[in-house]
Amino acid sequence: MTDSDRGAKWPRVAGVISDLDGVVYRGNEAIADAVKAFRRWHERAVPYCFVTNNSTYTREQVAGKLRGFGLAVDADRVVTSAVAAAQIVRERHGAGARVFVVGEAALKQAIGEAGLEVTDEAPAVVLVGLDREVTYRTLRMAVRAVRSGAVLIGTNPDPLLPVPDGFDPGAGSILAAVATATGVTPMIVGKPEPHMVLAALRYLGTPREATLMIGDQVSTDIVAGKRAGLVSVLVRTGVPARPDPSLPAPDFSVASLLDIPCAG
Ligand SMILES: [Mg+2]
Repeated sequence: MTDSDRGAKWPRVAGVISDLDGVVYRGNEAIADAVKAFRRWHERAVPYCFVTNNSTYTREQVAGKLRGFGLAVDADRVVTSAVAAAQIVRERHGAGARVFVVGEAALKQAIGEAGLEVTDEAPAVVLVGLDREVTYRTLRMAVRAVRSGAVLIGTNPDPLLPVPDGFDPGAGSILAAVATATGVTPMIVGKPEPHMVLAALRYLGTPREATLMIGDQVSTDIVAGKRAGLVSVLVRTGVPARPDPSLPAPDFSVASLLDIPCAG
């Protein structure tokens, strides 16, 4: 099956936004067809960029990994949930806004690079991402800041983090602790919410109806693509998920990225 389950016709592809793990690589191994497909788009000058919910790598680190697979990717072409969160905080709270960060170095770096201040003193925003060394003290500070009126934002809602030997608690599990303690529903930046995908779309500057959102997970990638108004494409190279009738069907479903027609 190389076309939509509903037999829809492919649009002209003006731009491509893609998930990474399960689409371009699995762990540290490139998916050969995906590398070929992105090289093809590159040769035909179809702009593309990559989105990831993971807030623990800088965009430079992600771009470096992709270059290692033979893709011409600079940091501008990578939108992480950390970078998108920093953009949103900057837009909504202005330059210099004070942000308490529950997260690792890459998230703090993204906040600093956006002209915001990482601080635990009277923050306007509490931003929660994955912090693999989170402590009770950090959670207590986050909870107290939110109870004092800070806005609660989460980089991504993922409950679990896949690791080579199983799963670890994800950013969403840490966020849930702060949300439960405060009774505040956080704003979520990453997939399945559309904000990170919309940041990528702004970077590409392509029309929504001719921009693909490619991913291997319906519950995150496809839902985010649909919420952002893009053409959603499921590629069946990732972890197979059990079909869930409560989730939307992707616009297209392909076995390989090479099944997607190139620029029309
Ligand atoms: Mg994926």
